[in-house]
Amino acid sequence: MVANSIETAQKRAQWEQFSYDIEAPGMVEVTNESHENPAAHQYTVSIDDVTDELMACTCPHHVHRNAFCKHMTAVKTATDDGTLETFPSADTDERVSGPYTGHDKYGNVDHTYWKCEECGAQATRKGALTDCC
Ligand SMILES: [Zn+2]
Ligand SMILES: [Zn+2]
Repeated sequence: MVANSIETAQKRAQWEQFSYDIEAPGMVEVTNESHENPAAHQYTVSIDDVTDELMACTCPHHVHRNAFCKHMTAVKTATDDGTLETFPSADTDERVSGPYTGHDKYGNVDHTYWKCEECGAQATRKGALTDCC
């Protein structure tokens, strides 16, 4: 049943036109350009930064049925053939410094974080600071 739905999604992805926009490393905004109103058909596919596995999509098809949807299929196809880079080199981002060590209220180190020098935003994942300001 799962294999079947992947196959169907792949078939659909072949005739639909998608465009991609990297919102942040591992976060790809997928727009269905073949739809009459592409802006209403924009969803975000997220990818695990460690395993490169596709994690989720914000479309109803994935959210309600937990299906491997056409957006995930399209992103996977585009990354596999090298036309899409889902983890652009965040290391060249001069705004972000770190990692720093964070302390809990007792003064023990309990996490590490990254900081944006421009706006002061902090995050435990460096990738989360790509578009904070
Ligand atoms: Zn989707
Ligand atoms: Zn910032």
